[in-house]
Amino acid sequence: MISVKEATEIILQHSVDYGVEEVPLVEAIGRILREDLIADRDFPPYDRVTMDGIAIKYASYAQGQRQFPIEKVIAAGDPEGELKEQNNCVEIMTGAVLPKGADIVIRYEDLEIKDGVATVTTEAIKASQNVHRKGTDRPVGGRIVSEGQLISPGEVGVAATVGKAKLRVAKLPKTAIISTGDELVDVFEQPLPHQIRRSNVYRLRASLKPYHMEADAYHLIDDQAVIEQKLGQLLEEYDILMLSGGVSKGKFDFIPAALEALGVKKLFHKIKQRPGKPFWFGKAPNGTLVFALPGNPVSSFMCTQRYFFPWLRSSLGLDPFKIPTARLEKSVTFTPDLTYLCQVAVSYDQEGRVLATPVEGHGSGDLANLVDADAFMELPQGRDVFEAGECHPIFFYR
Ligand code: AMP
Ligand code: MG
Repeated sequence: MISVKEATEIILQHSVDYGVEEVPLVEAIGRILREDLIADRDFPPYDRVTMDGIAIKYASYAQGQRQFPIEKVIAAGDPEGELKEQNNCVEIMTGAVLPKGADIVIRYEDLEIKDGVATVTTEAIKASQNVHRKGTDRPVGGRIVSEGQLISPGEVGVAATVGKAKLRVAKLPKTAIISTGDELVDVFEQPLPHQIRRSNVYRLRASLKPYHMEADAYHLIDDQAVIEQKLGQLLEEYDILMLSGGVSKGKFDFIPAALEALGVKKLFHKIKQRPGKPFWFGKAPNGTLVFALPGNPVSSFMCTQRYFFPWLRSSLGLDPFKIPTARLEKSVTFTPDLTYLCQVAVSYDQEGRVLATPVEGHGSGDLANLVDADAFMELPQGRDVFEAGECHPIFFYR
């Protein structure tokens, strides 16, 4: 059995770069950018007018002029114009190019326009107002977004502005999620008194969605020959297998033996932690990674949050999670010599501190408790009592 720290290291050492693919811009949301986004022009690309009104030469106003004959009207989309007479103005619209000879814009709200003459009705005019100067946001050639960024609407907007109709993003591993267990029926079936519906597969598939991973789901009965035959096939077809159940000490827990019989190298089995102790992790000769999670719903979920997602982020080239700490609100006693991943409800106090209230539930089978908690707090091995007020890392899953 290995420690949580060792398990984390082994998992991260087995990060895999699944390569790069190009996707249409809007489809790239939620994916990891695998190219830099470079400004193909200055941002903004010209002196951009930011108010509807008139463009004038500021010096004329500064010398006391308040009435400006209108030379012409310039709209957004017109090529760069020119203010010919420095005592005149041009009417100009938001988004237009500031004409040569003008340097400020006065908005309609501060004007009266009559008989082709604009009269300024305010004394609060400043040099260079209402013009968004060329190149002030970003210079041409500058890197605006770096590779490795999770693509949010902001990045999509930048990509569109620099003319990228497609983006290079990290390719996602082809994934199968496999439940095991003779007691399990599907969500739409009516279980017999000795059966339960399989929830792990749905929870796991749903938790992959934010990463835009579409996993295929399979179910295997507790029969070693069937398991070996099917897993052999799935190992060929997929980059990763996420199994749930069948990895403990029970008479029908065939998964570790079946995987080893198929040549999958065990990288670890069992972590000094609760929940999730029976987690099995290995690598097939073709490189397929196997995350064989315990069957208990809280255990499989916790192992996914604590190990699988850090692995996935590292594989996709995304920065590691920033793991916050929270302040324990109530003391917790936990005597087994294991790291305790205690379910907690998270709240915030007036000083902006993150508070964690234990909601321990009834153990690793209590899947309903996951809806009352927000995070797992990692309480280190080697201690029995954790006092209120202590701070420990939390793995937030909401
Ligand atoms: P196992 O690791 O196969 O011994 O399973 C441990 C416990 O988790 C048993 O009570 C199983 O019925 C339960 N379990 C296993 N897989 C699932 C699943 N997909 N959904 C809900 N419970 C499960
Ligand atoms: Mg089972």
